[in-house]
Amino acid sequence: MSVAEHYEQLLAFISTHLPDPFTQEDGDGVVIFTGGAPSEVVVRLTDTAVFVEEYAVRWETPFSAVVRPRRVGMVKWRRLPESQLMSIVGDLIKGACATRRARYRTCTFCGRVNPPEWMADDDSSCQHCAEQEAGVVH
Ligand SMILES: [Zn+2]
Repeated sequence: MSVAEHYEQLLAFISTHLPDPFTQEDGDGVVIFTGGAPSEVVVRLTDTAVFVEEYAVRWETPFSAVVRPRRVGMVKWRRLPESQLMSIVGDLIKGACATRRARYRTCTFCGRVNPPEWMADDDSSCQHCAEQEAGVVH
């Protein structure tokens, strides 16, 4: 199999193994996939490597959230035969999603399950309910 075919196979594999919905951005020498709603996993594919990251957001200030994914694994995709490569990439994607979902918390007020960046500082309520409880007027 040629390198171009191998790359196409990997591209197709990634897009069928991400949680739905997913987005695909073609950047400068890199294809970036983000899967899940809320986002769970980020996969970056270059012409030599595939990087799998757990989606994460950090609040730099109380008003600005920055996407800072955490690296779960990296594979030099040209160096592996197809079947091993797909199984490793598949496991990394599953692992990143599971780790991300394990951080979700249930709001004690509205009962919704939220990713950590939507929770208030005390981790027991979502930001919306925390504001209501605090009687914050906007
Ligand atoms: Zn809530």
